[in-house]
Amino acid sequence: MRSFDSLIRALPDFPRPGVTFRDITPLLADAGGFARCIDALAEPWQDARIEAVCGIESRGFIFGAALAQKLHAGFVPLRKPGKLPPPVVEVAYQLEYGSDRLQARSDALRPGERALLVDDVLATGGTLAAAHELVARLGATPVGASVLIELEALQGRARWPGGTPLHSLLRY
Ligand code: IMP
Repeated sequence: MRSFDSLIRALPDFPRPGVTFRDITPLLADAGGFARCIDALAEPWQDARIEAVCGIESRGFIFGAALAQKLHAGFVPLRKPGKLPPPVVEVAYQLEYGSDRLQARSDALRPGERALLVDDVLATGGTLAAAHELVARLGATPVGASVLIELEALQGRARWPGGTPLHSLLRY
C-alpha cells in the first residue's frame, strides 16, 4: 500500500520555467490513497462542529466535497468570476502576476455558520486569505482551513489571518 504523499507528482518547469507544479491527479486516481487523504484532512476537525466546508475552485472542490461528507457538513463552492448567478459577494486579491477574484452566492452561508476553508495547495497564501475574507463578509464564522500541500518557501502561512488554525498535510 502506497502512502498518499508518494502519489503526488512533482513536475519541474510547469506551468513556466522555475516553477515546480505539484500534480495531485495520481492521488485522486488511487482509491485507497484518496480515502486516507480525506481521513487525514478531516481528523483535526472531527470535534470542531463544522457546518459548511467552503472549497476553492477548482481543486478545492474535489477535496472539499469529500471532506464535507466526512464531517457531515454542507459544501459551498467559492468560485472564479462569472460562474455563479447573481447576487454574489466578491473579494479581489493579488497574484504573483496580476490579480484575481473569488465569489460566493450572497446567501451561501448563514450568519455565524461555522465554515472550514479547503484548497489543494497553499502557495503565496493570497487565495486562502481572500477566501477567509469572503466567508467573513458573508457573515459566517471562518473556523480554520485545511490544505493538502503547503509550499513552505513561499511563506503563504504568513498571510493567513491569525487566530484560527491552518492545517497542511504535506509540506515541501
Ligand atoms: P496562492 O494564492 O499563491 O497561495 O496559490 C494557491 C492556489 O494556486 C491554489 O488554489 C492552488 O490550486 C494553486 N496552485 C499554486 N501552486 C500550485 C501547484 O504547484 N500545484 C497545484 N496548484 C497550485
